[in-house]
Amino acid sequence: MHATLPLIRNTKFPAITRRKLETLQVNLGYRCNQTCVHCHVNAGPTRTESMTRETLDDVLAFLRASQVSVLDITGGAPELNPHFRALVRAARELHVRIMDRCNLTILEEPGHEDLAKFLAAQQVDVVASLPCYLEDNVDRQRGKGVFDASIRALRALNRLGYGHPDTGLSLALVYNPQGPVLPPAQRQLEADYRAQLGERFGIVFDQLYVITNMPIKRFGSMLISKGQFTHYMDLLKNAYQPANLDNVMCRTGLSIDWRGYVYDCDFNQMLGLPLVSRERTRTHVRDLTGSNLKNNPIVVADHCYGCTAGQGSSCGGALAS
Ligand code: SF4
Ligand code: SF4
Repeated sequence: MHATLPLIRNTKFPAITRRKLETLQVNLGYRCNQTCVHCHVNAGPTRTESMTRETLDDVLAFLRASQVSVLDITGGAPELNPHFRALVRAARELHVRIMDRCNLTILEEPGHEDLAKFLAAQQVDVVASLPCYLEDNVDRQRGKGVFDASIRALRALNRLGYGHPDTGLSLALVYNPQGPVLPPAQRQLEADYRAQLGERFGIVFDQLYVITNMPIKRFGSMLISKGQFTHYMDLLKNAYQPANLDNVMCRTGLSIDWRGYVYDCDFNQMLGLPLVSRERTRTHVRDLTGSNLKNNPIVVADHCYGCTAGQGSSCGGALAS
């Protein structure tokens, strides 16, 4: 895999600082049952990194002491971590909103057949990747058979009440482009998804998050291999919208890796760019309790243009919508 950090480290991206912490994004590990071509984690079935129970307890101790209102659980496939359900149950007792970044096919993996019911019982918001409503496009990006399995999983979630009004069970879908282009307008694409998935499969959902591909890890490496890296970076830079700078997710979010180390965002985690701290070269979540991160400088590099290009992009979709 080609390294992307040396190509993005020298940057003119504006300096930005943190605001009050609202969302804790916890990466439970890099193991996944899929190996998608755009994956910024480089996740897959052979990855072994996985958060231990001890580290998970450090995360929970921080959550208890903080005023964080959202726990965003991600991976790899976070549900493959043996402590996933313990984390969900404990966080639920703290009355924080819980989001599971679910790849959908995990719901059919052996040993996870009751996962959808568990998520519904714990009132977990499901944020599910579905990069197109067409089978060929999904299977090309995520693997053969992924589209059909995703449709079955979405139907199962709908049967449990996900995506239906008044159930309190939120179902968001996530789109990202197939290649090195900016995503289309979120509102229009959401309408297209609703029409296509509704008419063809009877599937309902609450919202579509449109996310820009980040020029790092597997996707970045693929761009380098094809000689498209500079062109894609130029595309992101030329589409820079200063208004998005105020809402990039690192302003109010924090990312924790499987070992408990802290980053401004998930992308910085994948690049090995830790949170800036005067005391330490890298900070563990157990050392964070009681810290006031407001106004802490955010570590930026050229990949940050992926968050500010066009309508903007974050784990919650377009920034400008
Ligand atoms: S994009 Fe998501 S589902 Fe695909 S390999 Fe990466 S973590 Fe797994
Ligand atoms: S990649 Fe985006 S979220 Fe991460 S530090 Fe840069 S602007 Fe913030």
